[in-house]
Amino acid sequence: MSTAPATVTLGDHFARTLPEMAVAWQADPAPEPRLLALNERLAGELGLDPDWLRGPDGVRLLVGEHVPEGATPVAQAYAGHQFGHYAPRLGDGRALLLGDLVHADGDPRDLHLKGSGRTPFARGGDGLAAVGPMLREYLVSEAMHALGIPTTRSLAVVATGRPVRRETVLPGAVLARVARSHLRVGSFQYARATGDVDLLRRLADHAIARHHPQAEGDYLALFEAVVAAQASLVARWMLAGFIHGVMNTDNMTISGETIDYGPCAFLEAFDPATVYSSIDHAGRYAYGNQPRVAEWNLARLAEALLPLFADDEERAIALAVEALGTFRARYDDAWSAGMAAKLGLDRPAPEPLVDDLLTLMRDNRVDHTSLHRRLGAAARGDTGPARELFLDLAGIDAWLARWLALTPDPDAMRRANPVHIPRNHLVEEALTAATEGDLVPFERLLDAVRSPYDERPDLARYAEPAPDHFAASYQTFCGT
Ligand code: AMP
Ligand code: MG
Repeated sequence: MSTAPATVTLGDHFARTLPEMAVAWQADPAPEPRLLALNERLAGELGLDPDWLRGPDGVRLLVGEHVPEGATPVAQAYAGHQFGHYAPRLGDGRALLLGDLVHADGDPRDLHLKGSGRTPFARGGDGLAAVGPMLREYLVSEAMHALGIPTTRSLAVVATGRPVRRETVLPGAVLARVARSHLRVGSFQYARATGDVDLLRRLADHAIARHHPQAEGDYLALFEAVVAAQASLVARWMLAGFIHGVMNTDNMTISGETIDYGPCAFLEAFDPATVYSSIDHAGRYAYGNQPRVAEWNLARLAEALLPLFADDEERAIALAVEALGTFRARYDDAWSAGMAAKLGLDRPAPEPLVDDLLTLMRDNRVDHTSLHRRLGAAARGDTGPARELFLDLAGIDAWLARWLALTPDPDAMRRANPVHIPRNHLVEEALTAATEGDLVPFERLLDAVRSPYDERPDLARYAEPAPDHFAASYQTFCGT
């Protein structure tokens, strides 16, 4: 018998510090809650007993029906630029911040629900989420975490027993999500738009205390820390071939964690113009645009913070421009260091060498993840598997000769280039089965992406690129 806690203690830091941005709210009851996925390890790190979470009270907590004493669930207010257009009032339309708790690393975490019913921010939405998209967030965020990419985490997915109307009727679910915070660029845009500089300062102080304590009292240092965190994050996305899909300012965190897995996907054939999202008609959030979009979003954050940088607006703008100007060099440095690691080099690779590889990859429509893994074998002397991916054999042979002359380290490459990512065809297969009630493919894929760097004979099919007919037409749909 485990000594299960009668309940959980949740702090209400956000609601108390920033009441203007928090609406106390209750989740909708779930008629027939059923636990579909539970992250036992994460539960343990949060001091939560997995056996208790599996029980009736635990599951009621995970859908928001059981509110621990002292907790104040709230819907958070935020604004945001969606595809470049400013929306002054977005907020948690179908989500609730249950409260905060402390992780084993000593830092606070938010416990948050998605799909828990309409809130005052719901606008036209139904406040609900379907099983497929919530398991998708669970799977992809766990994959990102295993790849070492900062991300919100997924604690659990509970099917609610409530049908959700989309193009068809789907089973509903609630995702319990854990994050260093849910502060977004859009949170600052919202505070700034109220015209209340005291609120803006309180929000910035809250962000500093949570994420960047070394910046205490220095709002420009806060901004610089966010610029640095986002430059590093987006460089990691690019190196892993991750496409977020909806980089609106309300989906960009202050912590530097990846958030809001909607129409996200991993790159297959390497092409900077790749877009998988069905709603991104203009390709604003294409793979190759992500660094530029991050910089654009950070400019919106700087605008929101201006009154805190200096009393004189011109001076404030000059400071903001200078700080934002560091983004490109920070991004380039992070990306070059990561690319050197992927190529098994202990110093930055010569720029023409990298540029030539990217050109060859694009022109030959080479699978991004497979190629980097196979270059590891090439570093060991077996160039066959990498060459196989190219039509232009003379081109890749010339490139391989230049690169091998730098004596890349194959062991280091194995630790830098994943073999298991949540490939789009596998994700779709797992979610289709889960929606029909079969969780086995989801669990197997989750197992594979949790060991991204280990080749395992039992998981061989999880390392293969998509069949051609799938890859050519793949689209993802906004996570609704
Ligand atoms: P997203 O693009 O998923 O990050 O969501 C953008 C905004 O739409 C946020 O304010 C969400 O809370 C809101 N939203 C998305 N889906 C729904 C829904 N089904 N019901 C209510 N609000 C939603
Ligand atoms: Mg969002």
